[in-house]
Amino acid sequence: VSRFEQVTMAPADPILGVSEAFKRDESEKKLNLGVGAYRTEDLQPMVLEVVKKAERKMLESGENKEYLPIEGLAAFNKATAELLLGADNAAIKENRVATIQGLSGTGSLRLGAAFIQRYFPGTTVYISNPTWGNHMNIFNDAGVPWKHYRYFDPKTVGLDFEGMMADIENAPDGSIMLLHGCAHNPTGVDPTPEQWEKIADLIEKKNHMAFFDVAYQGFASGSLDQDASSVRRFVERGMEVLVAQSYSKNLGLYAERIGAINAVVSSADAAARVRSQLKRIARPMYSNPPCHGARIVANVVGDAKMFDEWRAEMQEMAGRIKTVRQRLFDELSSKDKSGKDWSFVLKQIGMFSFTGLNKAQSDNMTNKWHIYMTKDGRISLAGLNLAKCEYLADAIIDSYY
Ligand code: PLP
Repeated sequence: VSRFEQVTMAPADPILGVSEAFKRDESEKKLNLGVGAYRTEDLQPMVLEVVKKAERKMLESGENKEYLPIEGLAAFNKATAELLLGADNAAIKENRVATIQGLSGTGSLRLGAAFIQRYFPGTTVYISNPTWGNHMNIFNDAGVPWKHYRYFDPKTVGLDFEGMMADIENAPDGSIMLLHGCAHNPTGVDPTPEQWEKIADLIEKKNHMAFFDVAYQGFASGSLDQDASSVRRFVERGMEVLVAQSYSKNLGLYAERIGAINAVVSSADAAARVRSQLKRIARPMYSNPPCHGARIVANVVGDAKMFDEWRAEMQEMAGRIKTVRQRLFDELSSKDKSGKDWSFVLKQIGMFSFTGLNKAQSDNMTNKWHIYMTKDGRISLAGLNLAKCEYLADAIIDSYY
């Protein structure tokens, strides 16, 4: 008998498990709208041209495979903070930003969570309801207590701004608010600029700290600056923030695991201390991060021509998603004779759309229509093409009623 007898079977991951089920389905009609990864109009994975170009350049220059420092590649850390805050940001000029490279968005959030556990023990992190499923796992595993704040109003399939504000107000002073920088996952519902201003006012008044998760910079609107405006708003007000970044979506570097954790703090001295402690947390976890993705980002951002090419490709990806979003809305509106208002589909932003389908209805999507999606009613529009919009609309309407 094995000494591992007491180990029970873990449940399938609610997001990655969807892809596994999709692979097993032999129907020709099948469609994978589960995982948030960009597909071309032919529904194939895509490597950006600018990434291939950077990789060719890297190969030619014959870079070695020595360890990176614990904090990662210096050129990457500089580039990533500048992309986030803007190169002429006062916090960068005043050396008030502690940036260390992380294992994409997830690993960077995990470093931030470990830092909170160590330096703000007992402080509760407030997370939107709903949110990306892994947020809860990350804070649970880091031993950080968390609670939900209200975010989504099923009646309007929009933001529950009043509920959100009330929950931020009622959280104990000095709590940590996890905010999606843009393109909220899974709802696709973001606060307006005016609402962001009010959120910042209240967080400041309550002496809370914002922890931004920026997984879709440039991918939501097509503009890196516009998608970072929520974070920049807080920083310009002189508020201290934590920010996790990911290059999975906007540069398509999913498997390279490249991202960063940034602490924007009040003094250069505090930034140096925070950086040293982030390194101390990273060292026993994984020693030092991988270099390939970091070099790609540093090369692309460091070369004006490649940077422009990246922006063009990002706009193309964001644009394709907007096109299928529009087509899906058109199909739903023309096919649904009930008079239901589907305009929420158009108002949502980013890779995802929250359809409002409940678990049983989402099951119908999969069991009857071979459409794979998470059970919270989220579909990834990045996995959809124009040719499949009509089929998807039929399936949604069939499942709804
Ligand atoms: N945060 C959010 C909100 C996400 O949607 C994702 C990916 O789906 C991530 C973080 C992290 O992704 P990665 O670890 O691939 O950067």
